[in-house]
Amino acid sequence: MATRHPRRAPRTPGERFAVLDPATGEDFAQAPDQQPEELDAVVARAHEAWRSWRADPVARATALRAAADAVVAAGADLAPLLTREQGKPLAEAQAEIARTAARLRYFAELVPEPHLLDDGRPVRSEVRWRSLGPVAAIVPWNFPLQLASAKFAPALAAGNTVVLKPSPHTPLATRLLGSVVSTALPAGVLTVVTGQEPLGARLASHPGIRQVTFTGSVPTGRAVAVGAAASLTRATLELGGNDAAVLLEDVDVERIADRLFWAAFRNCGQVCMAVKRVYVPARLHCDVVEALAQRAKTVVVGAGLDPGTQLGPVNNAPQLARVEQYTARALADGARAAAGGHRLDRPGYFHAPTVLADVPPDSPVVTQEQFGPVLPVLPYGNLDEAVAAANDTGFGLGGSVWGTDLDLAEAVAERLECGTAWINHHAELSLAQPFAGTKDSGVGVAGGPWGLYGNLRPFVVHRPEGP
Ligand code: NAD
Repeated sequence: MATRHPRRAPRTPGERFAVLDPATGEDFAQAPDQQPEELDAVVARAHEAWRSWRADPVARATALRAAADAVVAAGADLAPLLTREQGKPLAEAQAEIARTAARLRYFAELVPEPHLLDDGRPVRSEVRWRSLGPVAAIVPWNFPLQLASAKFAPALAAGNTVVLKPSPHTPLATRLLGSVVSTALPAGVLTVVTGQEPLGARLASHPGIRQVTFTGSVPTGRAVAVGAAASLTRATLELGGNDAAVLLEDVDVERIADRLFWAAFRNCGQVCMAVKRVYVPARLHCDVVEALAQRAKTVVVGAGLDPGTQLGPVNNAPQLARVEQYTARALADGARAAAGGHRLDRPGYFHAPTVLADVPPDSPVVTQEQFGPVLPVLPYGNLDEAVAAANDTGFGLGGSVWGTDLDLAEAVAERLECGTAWINHHAELSLAQPFAGTKDSGVGVAGGPWGLYGNLRPFVVHRPEGP
């Protein structure tokens, strides 16, 4: 196979940096390369805008509904741009935009409830909720718009203002989204900043920021937490995952194979809560490997804008290198590629959908988050072994159990150390549910009312019953 050395995004001296199309590896546009010093003015404007934005919840709800309408109306412009810079199939880009609008609508209707304390004292103590001020939102490249809205929709609904920084791999659709949403908001309420590091580091530690909400990798999350701590700023961290799927003895392999395959390979495996390891009773191991491999061999891989594409490229060159490296290491350690096992010999960052059998359990493709279209399938002897293996990780985002006996499946799901456990499904999330990883997968809670309260602070008023 020809060896290619994909170009990294070159930094143009001055004000812009190149954005690459992962389907070709070529740059196709540029984005403003904002410098950390520019953040002072941006954050000052966000403070200014907060004064009036926090004051009127009814006007806020109206504005967020209008913003959702504007996002839907701009879908035809947003979706191809998102696909071009991120790589995902156009239909998935459209779904991401629909989800973004839905999230704005969901949070537009949420209102924090005051709470009267009933502790027997002759005092009326009421807990009310106050906004925080400018919130920094820093997001990765796998779901740029959906994850951005997961930050800004609850933050804005709570009365905060937001400074949003997308990944330099996917700045364009987020910039467009920012301008579309801002048509419904007062100036300064939502600002998108784009640029390369140390822009994010500076934003996370900026003294004018009152809360940092970050989604990304564990190492960057640690750096963000340290930066936020320097200015004693609250930080919510949604970090990586290495989700396990545990199949039970009574699983109907053909019945679940499609769902399991897509739970692992959707968005080219670049989903924080994708299935990244599958544990299968030894008796069923060959059947499951075969069922998944057959799907991996027939799925249509191509540019996201090509009709018929089911799986796009990996988003960027370093990420592709990581996937290749983990796969090569597993193969060198004795794994067998039942499908794929290599990058594709074509321009762009394409990797063959890969199903691995006979993988040593301590191989990095099992123990680390490879975040790509590669799936190790591991046999187990008994359920205790399977649960122990599933939990033997520093991550704790999601997990799933697959079988016919739903009571048994739920009992096994209860034993998984993670934030969300599914039965016969994986990575299905409601806007109304809390989203929180355990262990290294995160700090804090997003989603649903919990996400709203995570953007507020309690304010208590004590008032005596008489004069
Ligand atoms: P990343 O950590 O490299 O980058 C995330 C964001 O942080 C980007 O905007 C990046 O520019 C910025 N950044 C980089 N260095 C920074 C610093 N020192 N200070 C502040 N910001 C900085 O992650 P990535 O490679 O873009 O995304 C993939 C990771 O994101 C995976 O680990 C994946 O699991 C995780 N992720 C988690 C969730 C979740 O909800 N838990 C969702 C999606 C992705």
